Amino acid sequence: MKKQFRSILNEKGRKELPNILLAAAECAPLSKTGGLADVVGTLPKALKKLGFDARVITPYHRCIKNKYADRVEHMFDFYVNLGWRTQYCGIERLMLDDVCIYLVDSEFYFGDKIYRGGQAEGEQYAFFTRAVLDAIPNLGFTPDIVHCNDWHTAMLPMLAKTQYGGAMQSSLRWLLTIHNIAYQGKFGFEYVQDLLGVEDKYYTPEFMELNGCASFLKAGCVFADRINTVSPTYANEIKTAYFGEGLEGILSARSNELSGIINGIDTKVFNPYTDPALPARYHKGRLSGKKLCKLALQRDFGLEQREDAPIFAMVTRMTEQKGFDLVERMLDELMQYNDMQFFVLGSGDKDYEDFMRNAESRYKGRLCAFIGYNEELSHRVYAGADFLLMPSRFEPCGLSQMIAMRYGTLPIVRETGGLKDSVKPYNRYTGEGTGFSFADFNAHEMKDAVLLALECYHKPEVMKSLIRQAMEADFSFDRSSEEYAMLYLWML
Ligand code: ADP
Repeated sequence: MKKQFRSILNEKGRKELPNILLAAAECAPLSKTGGLADVVGTLPKALKKLGFDARVITPYHRCIKNKYADRVEHMFDFYVNLGWRTQYCGIERLMLDDVCIYLVDSEFYFGDKIYRGGQAEGEQYAFFTRAVLDAIPNLGFTPDIVHCNDWHTAMLPMLAKTQYGGAMQSSLRWLLTIHNIAYQGKFGFEYVQDLLGVEDKYYTPEFMELNGCASFLKAGCVFADRINTVSPTYANEIKTAYFGEGLEGILSARSNELSGIINGIDTKVFNPYTDPALPARYHKGRLSGKKLCKLALQRDFGLEQREDAPIFAMVTRMTEQKGFDLVERMLDELMQYNDMQFFVLGSGDKDYEDFMRNAESRYKGRLCAFIGYNEELSHRVYAGADFLLMPSRFEPCGLSQMIAMRYGTLPIVRETGGLKDSVKPYNRYTGEGTGFSFADFNAHEMKDAVLLALECYHKPEVMKSLIRQAMEADFSFDRSSEEYAMLYLWML
């Protein structure tokens, strides 16, 4: 890929590279609730290294104001028409790591909550959509491609193509990245019509109608010039009814314009050799620090201090998607293996949280359930655990398994989406692999994969080479950014 990209770059010359504007609801480190923010925050920096001028447009959420207000420069303001309402909109500019970020300011829509939930969220992002479209001609930067992300910005291509005829917005190219197809922004059509003035003729199954609702994401899938998602396997999966959430038809019809690019992680932040959150540092050639991390984790969270007891960890949202039903079904059987320890860091559905709390009281000294979100602790868990369990029902990309491998912790994953694309399962005949995997969403298959991991744990030579192979795998964002660069070039 690198060679291919470099040769195209030489042929075209840097001047011919398209200008990119990324539009998204969140952008790390300014605002973040999930992996989307990481992609939007990291990609422009990586593209810059390749010679692109890539900028970001994102809401000016309160969390950004609180931290960056004194570094932000006011560019211009105008009024946005949203149905019968007229709302003030400011465009501010922030330079961060040499990347220009345009912030859409509205006290009315962007306060404490990045996502307001329900109908209110539809209005929040309908405002953002209209504001972006109206602001583009005045930014002093003409994008060739607008890169939209998830449903919150998926209406941009449709509105540009159907409501801005003759204006520069209608001549731009539009890329839509689907980070998770399960979230679509579905609302009553009248509501959408009221907010964005969409004509009746678009409320049909060929355009944005889906199961009696208007789907923002479907409109994006229909009108974007190109669609991609966050792993090649997920790009195939969403063309099927099981994963497609009703969009499998349009995605199959457009399968030539649909591709997958796996995300990367920030390898500077996630580096066991320099990570300030760890009680001891290590690298693939010297793993003694990892043992110290494990003992510290056991000590600090009430687990028996046993170097010979493997720690199986989960760092995750506690939702159905992440396979907690399988964990609930199998936990007691797995805990029969006396040396096994379990560490869960996560929060989410109350039932799963309660199940884990209850399990902690039943398996004192062998199971720790830390309910909550804690970035620093997550680093310590990635470093201190031996295995990371990710039995997801579906996983568009998944970052946790990549972080785990970088920290020499072997992932045990279900073969879906980005998990399948990033974890090479252990082959007992050749010794190859960077983790363990199972195919079907089935508790017994998961148990077999865990037991294989347990078996390997007791073979130090096998473990040593698996850990080395996992730590050598390349999950840097540079690899993904070159694939995005190619995609942009193909779009012109
Ligand atoms: P998703 O975006 O579906 O939640 P990913 O695996 O793509 O799943 O990304 C999850 C990210 O959030 C990872 O960086 C993971 O370490 C982090 N994370 C998830 N839950 C927690 C938690 N409770 N505390 C700290 N970090 C967490």
